[in-house]
Amino acid sequence: MKRTIIKDTVNHIGSTVTVSGWVHSVRKHGKIAFLDLRDRSGLIQAVDLTGKAVEKVGNEYAVEVTGLIKKRPEKMVNPKIITGTVEMEIRELTVYSKSLEPPFPLDDDGYRINEETRIKYRYLDLRRQRMLDNLLLRSRVTTYIRNYLTGRDFIEVETPILTKTTPEGARDFIVPSRLQPGNFYALPQSPQQYKQLLMVAGLEKYFQIARCFRDEDPRHDRAYGEFTQLDIEMSFVQQEDILNLTEGLFTEMVGKLFPEKHISQKPWPRLAHRDVLKKYGSDKPDLRRDRKDKNELAFAWIIDFPLFKEQSQDDFFYGSGRAKFAPSHHMFTAPHPEDILLLKTDPLKVRGQQHDLVLNGYEVGGGSVRIHEPQIQEQVFDLIGFTKEQKAQFEHLLTAFKYGVPPHGGIAPGIDRFLMTVLGEPSLREVMAFPTLSSGQTSVLDAPSPVTEAQLAELGIAIRAGKKKSKKAHG
Ligand code: ASP
Repeated sequence: MKRTIIKDTVNHIGSTVTVSGWVHSVRKHGKIAFLDLRDRSGLIQAVDLTGKAVEKVGNEYAVEVTGLIKKRPEKMVNPKIITGTVEMEIRELTVYSKSLEPPFPLDDDGYRINEETRIKYRYLDLRRQRMLDNLLLRSRVTTYIRNYLTGRDFIEVETPILTKTTPEGARDFIVPSRLQPGNFYALPQSPQQYKQLLMVAGLEKYFQIARCFRDEDPRHDRAYGEFTQLDIEMSFVQQEDILNLTEGLFTEMVGKLFPEKHISQKPWPRLAHRDVLKKYGSDKPDLRRDRKDKNELAFAWIIDFPLFKEQSQDDFFYGSGRAKFAPSHHMFTAPHPEDILLLKTDPLKVRGQQHDLVLNGYEVGGGSVRIHEPQIQEQVFDLIGFTKEQKAQFEHLLTAFKYGVPPHGGIAPGIDRFLMTVLGEPSLREVMAFPTLSSGQTSVLDAPSPVTEAQLAELGIAIRAGKKKSKKAHG
């Protein structure tokens, strides 16, 4: 039997059609019963005149229903559902599979439900309309980005997940090697080094919808574990070109995909780091004119960041204790050409060619023009206190840069961050299909979890006494 998608039933008045989906709700009125049926496209009300069909079903059963589509009388029209002008008179109902009663309601926004329970049953949580809408929009956003950039000669390239650390100021996730026991891969904190290598390779315009992994202490606007960013890199460009490309992409995309939103200021304001700190006390100011307006998007560029900040405890990766400076963005960011001499005399005064993309008080992206002169890279390594061994870890990049490296730069707007901000969601997890909680607990699949002694032995790994945490039951 040919399946009709529920939203299309309105085009079949007077015909008998078959729909497939889930039982959204059941209401009995004496002998007659009303079933709301749901598929991804929406709901339809189905009437069971005999009371027989309803005997077979419960909430969230997966069913196939054949019935006659009838126009509803004017006063019975339900504007709240997509098929509100019709209803279906059930002729036949087949149960594909039964459902237990879900552990929480699916017909509300879900914000009040305990989040551990929501992610344990994420496949049910994603049935709620709000979550489905978020995933649909996310897919539209990434499709829009792909079309926009490939239409402008960008090449999409995937870079490795098993790699060597790309230090971006967070702790790495490490993966033990079986073939080389005692050695480890790191999951990339971003594809930073690869995208620069792709510029040496001559790709000129690269992008990737990239997964990044950072083992950092969670905050509501930082996902624990992994997140997704639009990673971009371009050759033979200046900062201006990177800003214009990004601004063009986001402005056009907001207009097309979020027509109810309005951007407060076009072109986006460009503000110097020092000035915003002075004026707003923050380097990610919320520039909305009216904070009560949920459709206002205040984009801004923050530029002229200092290249370095004073090193602190958090900068454990760099030469903690050995040097005074840590990069404010990352160690590949180029100094402002006018400030090169200050590298020797007054490093804290050097401006970096960094740009942050700020939206409604959130930093939704950052990037920079990169260093492409090996001697300047070396100078930066020294200033952040790199030892010989640490420098040796970046030998590959310095070597690559000896083979005709073009001037290059890029940016990486966060996809989850952008969506969270535009949709006004309270956390990044609301725009991710299977997020990880701040406790490190993953959705549905119960990770992290122990591995067998045999697996450990193969890797040459023993767990230190006292380090083994017994696994607490999920949920
Ligand atoms: N790798 C940087 C980040 O993930 C972005 C960039 O410099 O392009 O924040």
